[in-house]
Parts: sequence; C-alpha cells; structure tokens
Amino acid sequence: MTQPHDFKRVWFITGASRGIGARIAEAALAQGDAVVATARDPASLRLGDTPALLAVALDVTSEAQAAAAVEAALQRFGRIDVLVNNAGFGLLGAIEEATGDEVRRLYETNVFGLLNVTRAALPSMRERRRGHVINISSLGGYQSGAGFGVYCSTKFAVEGLTEGLHAELAPLGIHATVVEPGYFRTDFLDGASLGISPRVIDDYAPTAGRVREAAKQISHNQPGDPRRLAQAVMALVEAPRPPLRLPLGTDTLAVIRNKHVFVEQETAAWQALAASTDFPPGE
Ligand code: NDP
Repeated sequence: MTQPHDFKRVWFITGASRGIGARIAEAALAQGDAVVATARDPASLRLGDTPALLAVALDVTSEAQAAAAVEAALQRFGRIDVLVNNAGFGLLGAIEEATGDEVRRLYETNVFGLLNVTRAALPSMRERRRGHVINISSLGGYQSGAGFGVYCSTKFAVEGLTEGLHAELAPLGIHATVVEPGYFRTDFLDGASLGISPRVIDDYAPTAGRVREAAKQISHNQPGDPRRLAQAVMALVEAPRPPLRLPLGTDTLAVIRNKHVFVEQETAAWQALAASTDFPPGE
C-alpha cells in the first residue's frame, strides 16, 4: 500500500479534465508525484487509475466545493505541496459587446474561483511553512488588446493577486508564481471552451471583429505545445528560488518585449507632466 510520504510532491490541480491542467497532471504522475486532479465532472478525468491519483469534483465557482476538495486532498495525502490554479476560460468580443452576465460568469471562474481555491489551500501550507501556488494567467495578463479585453482583465487580476501573494507568502516559506502562456494548442479557442459574445456592433469590425475571425484560424493551430508547457512547470517546481513570473512561449516573450518598449517610450514622453503633481518640498 502506497503511503503519502512515498511521494516527493503532492499536487492539487484545478480544471484537470483537459488541456493544460490535464497535461500538468499527467507530467506530475509520470515523474512519480501524487496528484489531486479536480474537475467539474470527475468522470471526465482521463488520468488512469493509480494510488497516486485522487479524482475530486470541483467547480471552482463553489467555495464549499473548494473547501471539501482541499479537505479530501489532505485526508488522502496529508498535504498539498503545489496548488495549480488552472481552471479558466476565455471570452471573445469587444468590451461593449459583452453583457454584464457574461462578464460576471468569467470573473466567477477566472478570478473569484481562483480565490476560493487559494483561500481553501493556504491554511495547510502556512501550517507547514511550505508550498508553491502556481496561478495560470496568460500573455493576456501582461498585455490586453481588442476582442479579449474582458478576458485579459481577469488575467490582469490574476497577475495582481499573485504579486500580492508573492509578497505575503514569501516570508512564510511559500512560493507564488504566475505562469503566462502564449497561444497553446488546447480547446481554449474553440466552442467547447470559449465564450463568444453574441452581440456584434459593426463599429468594432476592424478591431474586435477582426480578432473573432483570426481566432477561428488560430484554434488548434496554436504554436504552444501543452506537453512542453507541463515539462516547464515540472522544472519550475524544482527551482530553489522560483520566479514570480514565468512567461511561456515565444509569442509571450515578444509581447513582453514590445510592451516594455512601449511603456518606456510613453513614460519618457509624458515624464514632465507625470512628475508635476507632487506637493512642492515643504508644502
Ligand atoms: P481548455 O479549454 O482546454 O481547458 C479549460 C479547463 O478549465 C477545463 O478542464 C475546464 O473544465 C476547466 N474549467 C472551466 N471552468 C471551470 C470551473 N468553473 N471549475 C472548474 N474547472 C473549470 O483550456 P486550457 O487548458 O488552454 O486553459 C487552461 C488555463 O490556461 C485557463 O486558465 C486559460 O485561461 C489559460 N490559458 C490558456 C491559453 C491557451 O492558449 N490555451 C493561453 C493563456 C492562458 P470542463 O472540462 O469541465 O469544461
């Protein structure tokens, strides 16, 4: 009978039914770690049958289910070493085209869901003064753009939350990393996952409208390989000093470089006005 201490690491992964979450779960199991694989429908998990695997139902929008899933993980393995907040989906449409309900549904999963699971998992990590919280953001968490503005705003929230967690958890011996994948070949851009705002406003045809069309071409032709992403996450947890941010994919690297140039140039151009708003010395 396998004992919890036989495993080097215990992972807790949200959205492990398919895509990036499933590939990370497979890679962790393949290297002999234990995995708590969570999914809205545990029957959709295709990770085999091994004592190293615990399949648990978790819709991250339910705070009660998040607490129960973490409890089940601790009952079975006694600890969580790595929490991967991966569950999420995209919303395509101009910001004005998205309805309030669409926006709220997206935030319920991508932001409030991540917070539900993080709050549930942190007490046991704090108790042990160890652990690693890995939040899956996006290239869109670094640079927003037409057609994905609402989605990107959820990933900007994930970036902000992870920077805060990093500052609060480092003194407690717990790592926090935000992973920023570029376009990876999963269901992310197809109808199985992506929300598309049905309301179309003609004025946005050259911006958000163009992105709607491009998404169809990119879907399932993305340059990023989810299995290689999973291997990068395996390397990440081995690092003695893991980074706050881990961009993945050459597309993300280009986006970051371009944004840095833009911010540098724009800040320099507006430097005088930006510096004009402090009280003068002594006032
Ligand atoms: P997929 O659509 O292939 O997988 C999404 C996963 O999230 C599924 O397992 C889905 O479960 C799960 N999920 C969605 N909503 C919930 C919920 N409320 N509770 C629990 N699970 C849920 O996409 P990816 O694997 O590509 O996406 C994974 C993460 O990576 C997301 O956070 C996404 O934003 C991010 N990302 C992806 C990129 C890409 O190009 N692929 C780029 C940048 C970021 P179910 O099977 O039940 O629907």
